[in-house]
Amino acid sequence: MAGMKINIVGGGPAGLYFGILMKKADPRHDITILERDGPNDTFGWGIVFSDKMQSYLRDHDAESHARITAKFQLWDNVDVIHRGVKTSIGGNRFAGIGRLAFLNIFHERCRELGVRIEFQHNVGPSGLDALQDCDLFIGADGANSLVRRHFAGAFRPTVDVRRNRYIWLGTQHLFTGLTLTFKQHDTGVYAAHSYRFSESHSTFIVECPDATWNAAGFADMDDERACVFLADVFRDELCGRPLLSNNFVKWLRFPIVKNARWIDDHRVLLGDALHTAHFSIGSGTRLALEDAIALYQAIRNRPSVPAALAEFERARKPVVDELQEAALSSLLWFENFGDRLHLDPLPFAYEIMTRSGRIDHEGLRQRDPKFVAAYERWRADHAANEPRNS
Ligand SMILES: Cc1cc2nc3c(=O)[nH]c(=O)nc-3n(C[C@H](O)[C@H](O)[C@H](O)COP(=O)(O)OP(=O)(O)OC[C@H]3O[C@@H](n4cnc5c(N)ncnc54)[C@H](O)[C@@H]3O)c2cc1C
Repeated sequence: MAGMKINIVGGGPAGLYFGILMKKADPRHDITILERDGPNDTFGWGIVFSDKMQSYLRDHDAESHARITAKFQLWDNVDVIHRGVKTSIGGNRFAGIGRLAFLNIFHERCRELGVRIEFQHNVGPSGLDALQDCDLFIGADGANSLVRRHFAGAFRPTVDVRRNRYIWLGTQHLFTGLTLTFKQHDTGVYAAHSYRFSESHSTFIVECPDATWNAAGFADMDDERACVFLADVFRDELCGRPLLSNNFVKWLRFPIVKNARWIDDHRVLLGDALHTAHFSIGSGTRLALEDAIALYQAIRNRPSVPAALAEFERARKPVVDELQEAALSSLLWFENFGDRLHLDPLPFAYEIMTRSGRIDHEGLRQRDPKFVAAYERWRADHAANEPRNS
């Protein structure tokens, strides 16, 4: 399909990458991305990728891949800190990058290729009608998607807002791996997900149950005070360094987004607008980019937009459903982590590594045989010390 007019609401990873792939394949496409924020505004700090994602990026746009990987912080250990004891599990290849640095690379690629981005263009419900005059209309406007809500009759979405509260902070303390820290505090239990994403900064996401959030009084604390409070809770792990907020940071509850239908006439949703995956499995951006790739491929291989969109939904939905299942297991584990804190550090770390069902015992052994051997010894000792049933 040559020379299509494509309108995209949302300039996050999904919308930008789709624009790049399409324009690169055919410069005659007329592509406009409408983005609410400015080029240097974004929520969150750094994001994590598995190495599988890196090869997808290389195969589809070597230019952005080279610029992205030049900024990667690499590591291969997951560190679990429980009762002040750190258990390190190796063999997990990850890369971290600042979300803003990542998006800026895509902005640059869009400029080079001629994809039009209108920053600070907040599309409201009244602006949606005019945008429908195109060959392909894309809602890539994130978890709270206006496009999804506006066309809810066709997409039939469900949004399950989960129990835990989380806040996405940063710090200048540089963690040496993907670090998961668990704390029992006067006000309740806390978990932190942290990793280095640049030479100078790490992401620090704090998650807690409602009871903890209420006991700490976060509802009455501004961001600055919340940062001071949480930096004190995690003082040892942060080595006394402060936690940092940005203008876009606030306490949230994670929404699990699903849609019964992904397409409607010449309309389609991509990325978080279509499906979310809990941040504890660090795959949301990957899913958004894979959506962009899958839609681009469907358009390349099919003769018409309706046929391409149908192919996109048919091929991609089972993959996303499976990942959302794994993400749900992980999310549920984190919603109930307070009930698991009685475990010793070693079985606790083992449980975390296997929580989503994507890594089993043998898979873990392949990643880190020493860790699995230590766990097996612990289990054997523990079984030997268990009272026998009569
Ligand atoms: C705490 C946390 C940590 C995460 N960590 C990771 C991680 O480590 N690794 C990972 O892969 N993923 C991670 N994710 C997930 C990741 O952020 C998302 O899955 C990813 O950003 C989805 O990309 P997207 O393009 O679909 O949506 P978004 O990135 O949300 O982009 C949507 C864009 O649309 C714009 N927009 C919204 N409404 C409008 C409107 N009305 N008009 C115009 N523009 C609009 C927004 O400004 C935004 O720029 C994390 C998420 C959270 C919440």
